[in-house]
Amino acid sequence: MTRISNYLTSFDAVVMGLLIFLSYRFFEVQSLFERYLPLSDSILQIASHLIAFVVVFTLLIFSANLDRFKVHQHDSGSWIKVALFVFTITVNFFFWRCWEGGVENEPYQLSIFFKITITLFLGIFDYGFNHIFISAWKEKQSLSKLSFSLSQLKEKESELQVRVSKLSASVSELIAKHDKKRCPRCHADLPSIHARNAHLRTCHETPKILNNEL
Ligand SMILES: [Zn+2]
Repeated sequence: MTRISNYLTSFDAVVMGLLIFLSYRFFEVQSLFERYLPLSDSILQIASHLIAFVVVFTLLIFSANLDRFKVHQHDSGSWIKVALFVFTITVNFFFWRCWEGGVENEPYQLSIFFKITITLFLGIFDYGFNHIFISAWKEKQSLSKLSFSLSQLKEKESELQVRVSKLSASVSELIAKHDKKRCPRCHADLPSIHARNAHLRTCHETPKILNNEL
């Protein structure tokens, strides 16, 4: 169940839903152009399919790039959403023939009410899909940017660790060199190993017997 709920809230599910919805839109637009194009039967099918493909592909590209329709910085870009909404409502209106009655013996008003409701809701679904698609896409982009930054940080961390270990090695080397110049008895710092050896003979901490040996 968790896998199903994870899939339903994933970006892949949004894309899949959008594509399924666009296949319905394709059928709808193709039927309309087949109905209204003033062409002979020989090319009507090809022309209506071609136009439906162009319209649906354009809708898909527009949906995926809604943010690019901002004319200036403070523009919310919602005008293109409204334009798409009006377009889908118009297509639905003509596809469902909202001015015509339904099946025989069905009250005219009831049939009109149903068709107008369907027209509006399919338009809202379209608007909703675009909104979800853009939100999910932005979320996905933010996650990939974060993961890229994280991998860059990890890379820098390992570089820094290498530098720190090199610095530690240099510091230990320096300490070892410095220790060699220090008197082991009175801990006085001498300028060279030679000076330290000379100092050991006169160091006030050296016992006299040892001094004679040196
Ligand atoms: Zn000393």
